[in-house]
Amino acid sequence: MISSLMPNYNRIDLSFSHGDGVWLVADDGRRFLDFGAGIATSSLGHGHPGLTRAIAEQAARVMHVSNLYRVPQAERLAERLVAASFADSVFFCNSGAEANEALVKAFRKTMADEGKPERYRVICAEGAFHGRTLAMISATGNARYLAGFGPAVEGFDHVPFNNLNELRAAITPETAGILVEPVQGEGGVRPASAAYLRGLRAAADEFGLLLGFDEVQCGMGRTGRLFAHEWAGVVPDAVSTAKGIGGGFPLGAMLARERVAQHLVPGSHGTTFGGNPLACAAGNAVLDVVLAPGFLDEVVRTGARFRQGLEALVLRHGDVFSAVRGQGLMQGLVCAVPNGDAQSACLVEGLLAVAAGDNVLRLVPPLIVTEAEIDDALARLDGVARRCKPYAFADAAK
Ligand SMILES: *Cc1c(COP(=O)(O)O)cnc(C)c1O
Repeated sequence: MISSLMPNYNRIDLSFSHGDGVWLVADDGRRFLDFGAGIATSSLGHGHPGLTRAIAEQAARVMHVSNLYRVPQAERLAERLVAASFADSVFFCNSGAEANEALVKAFRKTMADEGKPERYRVICAEGAFHGRTLAMISATGNARYLAGFGPAVEGFDHVPFNNLNELRAAITPETAGILVEPVQGEGGVRPASAAYLRGLRAAADEFGLLLGFDEVQCGMGRTGRLFAHEWAGVVPDAVSTAKGIGGGFPLGAMLARERVAQHLVPGSHGTTFGGNPLACAAGNAVLDVVLAPGFLDEVVRTGARFRQGLEALVLRHGDVFSAVRGQGLMQGLVCAVPNGDAQSACLVEGLLAVAAGDNVLRLVPPLIVTEAEIDDALARLDGVARRCKPYAFADAAK
C-alpha cells in the first residue's frame, strides 16, 4: 500500500530530533556533522539564536497579512538587499523555482513592454537546475525531469555550459535573455569561469538581451561574496535566489535592475505567501549575520581551508575521489566510485553530504562552520575514502 506521505523522494532512513550549529542529532542519538545543510539552505546552521529568536518573536506578533498591505519587514529586507547588491528592486516569493518563474516572466514582460514581444525565449545551460514547476523543468532541460509530464513549456533553448561560442550561436531574433547558474549546483558543483560570465554580459549587451543568474544555491554568501557573480565583476539584469536566504525558513527572491523590475506593475505578477512578515523576519536575521563586517571574509577563509584539505584528499585517495571543484563553501568531490556509495559511507562516518549530478559528492556546510569543524569533516572524509576503496568492497564481500 502507498505511504501516506507521497513517494516522490528517495529518503534515507534517518530522522533528526534537533540540531546545534553545524551538528544534527538523530532520533536514535547519533550525531552528524551537517555538510549538506538541507541542500545548501541552513546557512546559519541549526538553532542559531538570532534566527530562532527573530522567527519566534515575529510569529508571536503577526505571521501573515497578504500583499494587500505594506509589510515593513519586507521593505527593510529589500532595502538591505538592494544596498548590498547590483539590484534596484526585489520581489519576494517562497522558493527557488518561483524566483526563477518571476525572473523569466519579468524578462518576457520587459521585452514585450519595450515593443519586442517576439523576444520571449531564454537560453539556458546544459547541466542546469532551475526547479520543478512546469516551466522550470523546461528551463532545466533535463530529460529525466521532463519525462511523463507532457509537452515541455515553450521558450527555452539549451547550450553547453561554459561555452561562449555555442551560446552566441544560439541567439536568435526571438531571444529575450540568458539564465545560468554562476556555479551549477545539482548539475555537479560546476563553476562558470569568470571569462564566461563576462562574455555573457558582453553578448547580452551586443544583442540587446537580458542577463539573469540563478543564484538560488550559490548566492547569499555561499561562495564568500553575497552573490557568486560578484567574483567575475559582472553586473546582471536580474538574479534569483532562495535556499540560504531564510536560513532554512522558506523564502525566495528575484532581484532586478530598474529596466526589468519596472515592468512587474500591479496585477502583472504576485503570490499570497511571498514576502510575509515571518519569512522576511527570518531573511533579515540571516542578513544580520551574513552582512556583518568580516563574515564573508571568514567564509572565504574557511572555504579555502576546506578546498586545500579536499585537494590533499584527492592526492591521497585518487582511486575514490578523482577531483575537487567549486567555490567557497560550495565544494564538490568528483567520485571515482558511485557517489551514492560515498554518500552512504559519509553517514557511517557521521557526516552528512549530498549527491549531485556528474557523480559528485556535494559538500555545502552552514556558512558559520569553523576551521575546527572543517578539519573534523576532512578527517571523516578520509575515513569515507578508506571505506570506499575498491578493495575495501572486495574484502567486505568475502
Ligand atoms: C534548488 C534550486 C532551485 C529550485 O529551488 P526550489 O526552492 O526547490 O524551488 C533552482 N535553482 C537552483 C540553482 C537550485 O539549486
